[in-house]
Amino acid sequence: MLTFEHQFATLPEPLWVACQPTPVAQPSLIAFNDALAAQLGMQTRPDDATLAQWFSGNQLPPGAEPKALGYAGHQFGNFVPQLGDGRALLLGEVVDQQGIRRDVQLKGSGRTPFSRGGDGRSPLGPVLREYLVSEFMAAVGVPTTRALAAVATGEPVVRQMAEPGAVLTRVASSHIRVGTFQFAAVRRDEEALKALADHVIARHYPEAANAEDPYLALLEAVTERQAVLVARWMSLGFIHGVMNTDNCSVAGETIDYGPCAFMEQFDPEKVYSSIDQGRRYAFSNQPGIAQWNLARFAETLLPLMREEGDAVVEQATDIIRGFTSRFSAEQRRLHANKLGLAPESDRAAPLMEALEIQMHQGRMDMTATFDALTRYTKELSADTSVQPQKDALLALTTQPDGLAAWLAEWENAQQASQQSKRLEAMRRANPVVIPRNHRIQEVIEAATEGNFAPFHTLLAAVTQPFDESEEARRLAAPATESEQVLRTFCGT
Ligand code: AMP
Ligand code: MG
Repeated sequence: MLTFEHQFATLPEPLWVACQPTPVAQPSLIAFNDALAAQLGMQTRPDDATLAQWFSGNQLPPGAEPKALGYAGHQFGNFVPQLGDGRALLLGEVVDQQGIRRDVQLKGSGRTPFSRGGDGRSPLGPVLREYLVSEFMAAVGVPTTRALAAVATGEPVVRQMAEPGAVLTRVASSHIRVGTFQFAAVRRDEEALKALADHVIARHYPEAANAEDPYLALLEAVTERQAVLVARWMSLGFIHGVMNTDNCSVAGETIDYGPCAFMEQFDPEKVYSSIDQGRRYAFSNQPGIAQWNLARFAETLLPLMREEGDAVVEQATDIIRGFTSRFSAEQRRLHANKLGLAPESDRAAPLMEALEIQMHQGRMDMTATFDALTRYTKELSADTSVQPQKDALLALTTQPDGLAAWLAEWENAQQASQQSKRLEAMRRANPVVIPRNHRIQEVIEAATEGNFAPFHTLLAAVTQPFDESEEARRLAAPATESEQVLRTFCGT
């Protein structure tokens, strides 16, 4: 049983509205995350039929008090004063086994006062995609919302065409976004704004409460978490796709997996999302966009800060500028790990820059490159005279001469770095299996036909991302030319 609490309901009402889910025709359980449920304190597993009732919203779990949360947001740079949970409901919070308060939310549970023109529903495809990608992120240690359950509704959802519907149950440190602050700020509701900020400090950044100016300290703490988060995304080739301020969590978790994708061939300009016409959220734009989002966050906090006028703007601006150095520091650390170098190595940055050029020009698959590099490192530390992994690595590029020259330099740096000690960190920085776009698509196509076996197989693989078995490597293979996914869709 989950023990629900409702701290968010102590916040002033414009920030939330009580709302019931709309029942669905025929709920059936697709997946339930037993390990996560145990972390949330669920001792015994109810039967599938009960779970399907609970996590479709047909019959709520005991103690749930569903509410839709209000938020605003800059969507592709344009401010929308009212967005809010148009198809999601917060059931309540559960304090987990580690004492951390977690939100439990239904997504796709029907219309709410924030639905605008939408139907409040979610097609099966985006539910499965979010389940797979968020659980992968958790497995590789990237801060993220989690997937607790997926339930098929037995009802069609009409988008481009009719598709099966589903409800995802998501668990987050909180669902409070930069857009939640914008929602209070645009109403000039200083009481709601202060209550929200104090709630976030108490919940996520308790140390900020003791600072000279807690709201400046809050801005600094959120900036730190976003910098670390985006650096981690980039180290895996992750492109969020919709980095609107309403999809920017103040707890620093990856949230709202829409048209997200992991890039295959390395390309800094890469965009997958069909709705990102201006290429605003391209791979290499992500740090700059996060910083822009944080500037919007800072604007909402200014009225709460101690100083006034130019002084406070200057203080906040300094913190936002600090994003760059914090991001770079985290990136340096991650790059050193990915290359099997010592964290303090000054060779990591130039070597990574040169490797990125090799990957781009040689049309190399990013994940396969770092996996092969890790295997080659293992081979080097074993000190054998045959080097099949080096050949495997060179086979990934269309420009083997360039890569061979890069490898010579890297090997030099590696020797200085005592690489054998770093293999473990290197492996953990370089997953074998990622949820590749074409695999996700295959899973969705099969599930749409009623076959969920490929979903479960892929889920097992992406939640064991460092598994080097042959089966894992089969799912890890990059898309062939004909399998390549060129565009991803929100599908909302
Ligand atoms: P998203 O692109 O999923 O981050 O959603 C942006 C906004 O659109 C949020 O306010 C969502 O609640 C709302 N929204 C997305 N899909 C639907 C839907 N099917 N019905 C109602 N609201 C939706
Ligand atoms: Mg969103």
